Amino acid sequence: MSTGTVNIKVTKTQSSRIKTIDFDNLPFGKYFADHMMVMDYADGKWGEPQIVPFGNIEIHPATSALHYGQSIFEGLKAQRNEKGEVVVFRPDMNAKRFKESAERMCMVPVSEEIFLEGIRALIELDREWVPTKPGTSLYIRPFLFATDDYVGIRPSEKYKFMIINSPVGSYYSEPVKVKIETHYTRAAEGGVGRAKNAGNYGASLYPAKLGQEKGYRQLLWTDAKTHTLIEESGTMNIMFIINDVLITPSEERDTILKGITKRSVIEIAKDWGVKVEERDISVAEVMAAIENGTLQDAFGAGTAATIAPIVAIGYEDKEYALPSMESRTLSHKIATYISDYKAGKIEDKFNWLMRI
Ligand SMILES: *Cc1c(COP(=O)(O)O)cnc(C)c1O
Repeated sequence: MSTGTVNIKVTKTQSSRIKTIDFDNLPFGKYFADHMMVMDYADGKWGEPQIVPFGNIEIHPATSALHYGQSIFEGLKAQRNEKGEVVVFRPDMNAKRFKESAERMCMVPVSEEIFLEGIRALIELDREWVPTKPGTSLYIRPFLFATDDYVGIRPSEKYKFMIINSPVGSYYSEPVKVKIETHYTRAAEGGVGRAKNAGNYGASLYPAKLGQEKGYRQLLWTDAKTHTLIEESGTMNIMFIINDVLITPSEERDTILKGITKRSVIEIAKDWGVKVEERDISVAEVMAAIENGTLQDAFGAGTAATIAPIVAIGYEDKEYALPSMESRTLSHKIATYISDYKAGKIEDKFNWLMRI
C-alpha cells in the first residue's frame, strides 16, 4: 500500500475477529482491531513500516523499556461523521506532541508523516472497526518504547513504534467527583510531566487509588513544590469558569500536559468571544469562588472523555458541591459543538479533521 510518500507493507489477517465483538457494549480499551502497525529502529535507522495482523509480540527479558522506562504513547480518536466517512480529530497535534515526548525521554522520534500515514493506512484497512453509535469511536493508541536487550542505564539504541486501535464506548458516562491532591505529586518542574511517558501514569496509580477509596474518580494534582496551585487531572486538563472567564493553568510550567482537547476548547471559546485566561490558578482561588458563588463551572478536557463535568471537589476531607448540571451552559455548548464538529454537522472551519 502506498499512501503519499510513505510505503507501508501490509500483511492482512486470515481471520477477522470483528464478528466476535459486541458493538452495542463496548468497554474502554479492551478489544482491538484486526491489524496493527509496527516499525523498528536499529543500527541508526528506521526500518520499513509494516501493518500486520494484531497479536502478541515477543520481547527479550532485558528489554530496556521494562527496566528503565523509555516508553511513550499517544491517544486519539477516529469516528464516523454523518456521511459515513471516518474522521480523526487533529492528529497532526498528536504527531507533534509524540515527537516532543520522544525528545524529552531521549528516544528517537517518529516522523509526523509516518505517524499520520500509519494511522491512515491502518484505518483504511480496519474501517469496519470504527463503531457507528453516538458516543463511540475507535481509540487510536500509537506508542514507542526502547527495545535494547541490555541491562544498563543509557538511552536505548533500538526502538519499536506501534499503533493499535480499540473500538470504545464513552469513557466517563457520568459527571465526576475529583479530589485535590495535596500530598502526592504527579510532576515536578524540570521533570517529565509534559511528556506522555508511561512512568507518569504508573506513578499516579497509588494516590489515585487512595482517592478512589474515598469516592473520587480522579485526582486534581497540585504543584509539587507548594501544593497550592492547581495543575491538571490524571488524564485530563482542568478548566474552570469563574465570573464568565474560562480559566485554565498555563502550559508554561513543564508539569502540565499540552492537551489537544483543552487547546480546542480554548480556540472555540475565543472564537465565540469568551474571555480566556491561561495562568496560575490557586486552590485558594477556586475554593473562594466556590464559596462566594462565582465559580460557574469546572470540567476536565481530554481525548478519552472530551468534556467531563465535575460535580464535586474534595479538599482536606470536605466535599464541595459545584453548580447544577443544568446551569453549565457554556461547557455544554462547547461539548455539543465538538461532538457536532466531529460528526460533520458543522463545517470544518478550523481545519481540524483528517478524513479517511
Ligand atoms: C493525554 C492527557 C491529557 C489530555 O490530552 P488530550 O490531548 O486532550 O487527550 C491531559 N493530561 C494528561 C496527563 C494526559 O496524559
